[in-house]
Amino acid sequence: EGGGAMAAVAGSERPRPSALALLGPGPGAPCCPHGPALLFVKTSQGKEEGRRFYACSACRDRKDCNFFQWEDEKVSETRLAAREEYNRNHQPSFTHRQNVDRYKNFVLLPSSKRRFCQECQQLLLPAEWEKHSDHQFLCNITTAQLKSPSQLLYPLENKKTNAQYLFADRSCQFLLNLLTDLGFRRVLSVGTPRLHEMIQSKASQEEEFSVRSLLLDIDFRYSQFYAEDEFCHYNMFNHHFFGGEAARETCRKFLCEENGERVIMVTDPPFGGLVEALASSFKKLMAMWRETEKEGDDNEEMPMFWIFPYFFESRILDFFPSFSMMDYQVDYDNHALYKHGKTGRRQSPVRIFTNLTPSMIVLPEEEGYRFCTVCQRYVSSGNQHCEICNSCTSKDGRRWKHCVLCKKCVKPSWFHCNNCNCCTLQKHSCEKTDVGCFVCGKAGHKRSACPSLSHA
Ligand code: SAH
Ligand code: ZN
Ligand code: ZN
Ligand code: ZN
Ligand code: ZN
Repeated sequence: EGGGAMAAVAGSERPRPSALALLGPGPGAPCCPHGPALLFVKTSQGKEEGRRFYACSACRDRKDCNFFQWEDEKVSETRLAAREEYNRNHQPSFTHRQNVDRYKNFVLLPSSKRRFCQECQQLLLPAEWEKHSDHQFLCNITTAQLKSPSQLLYPLENKKTNAQYLFADRSCQFLLNLLTDLGFRRVLSVGTPRLHEMIQSKASQEEEFSVRSLLLDIDFRYSQFYAEDEFCHYNMFNHHFFGGEAARETCRKFLCEENGERVIMVTDPPFGGLVEALASSFKKLMAMWRETEKEGDDNEEMPMFWIFPYFFESRILDFFPSFSMMDYQVDYDNHALYKHGKTGRRQSPVRIFTNLTPSMIVLPEEEGYRFCTVCQRYVSSGNQHCEICNSCTSKDGRRWKHCVLCKKCVKPSWFHCNNCNCCTLQKHSCEKTDVGCFVCGKAGHKRSACPSLSHA
């Protein structure tokens, strides 16, 4: 159980015959080192079945955090005390404040004395060299390197927990241009260290560039490079600020739109993540924004870009009906599936979901995007306007075809199966239709053959 149970939840976003349901972060939830745990229950045919239990909100791999507790379990004082001690011991060895001081000392060092331990992922002060003597390290760390920590730190991509996939430069540049063109001057970067870094370094280099960013991320390594008003150690699955009230206040302050500086939140969560947990946290961040003193309509929502794969569209819209999905394909540096191949463009399934008016999101024409006057939004070059659906229906960038029996557009590779009474892959077994796919929830195929995922 424990983390293993969490692993089973991840990705299974639609109700299946047997699944785990998230009951949300309840008041009085027990804490693991990653903050309040989330409450889950096993479901069968959509009905709750069995005992409810708490598991870690952040870690989908039990190796990262094996927290587990039944909801109705009596936990003794001794065990509670032991748990508290365990949680304390599993916090980073330096505080953010200490890391800020260390950084100040580090930048005073001559280049020859600036070392970064690759094993500990830590900037080293000369007095610490000895302790790391048999670790691999980089020397002569430059100011440029300190300004792009996402290049210096290795991406935590193998750990299911972090799933760090960094934006390709052109996607990051596109996002930044887009939001500055839209007039935003403050960016709440939630799990977008590379965007944060691009904003920070531009702000330090260009006088007239006046955009500011606050990074919220669970990756504490970033606290070595950013001050307390630039980075908060944050868990986006339970809205937990590790730095307590002070960090929460930093975030609240940042969301106050002083001097008319408009705020947008940009987030790029791990894709295996629990959409309902993310949505619940994002609603809390939105509430934080709304509660700050501001002019204008009380019903307004904090502008947001939620970057996520297109096959989560219906899940995201369940929680945020005001959102729409843009056709822009977000590219990554270290993701084999999602980046441009050598031979032209590999399609990325990752999109921008936003509550801004779609027509305002101008997509680059030089990359083939065009404006559809009927839909009033930019669409990919392959996305043909379907006269019957009266919309540009492609989700993956390829031209989709209309099926009169299904009364909707479907992927070009699909055909209508009279057995299953729906469009699906040519290769599918009709009997398996009652069990939805683990990834997209649709019938007729298993996770490994899910057409939502392009295979490398
Ligand atoms: N494309 C982005 C990075 C997205 S990868 C960029 O280039 O800036 C996902 C990010 O979310 C990583 O930075 C990771 O550290 C962070 N993350 C993962 N789990 C998290 C959690 N529970 N809470 C907050 N941030 C998390
Ligand atoms: Zn080391
Ligand atoms: Zn159209
Ligand atoms: Zn159609
Ligand atoms: Zn069909």
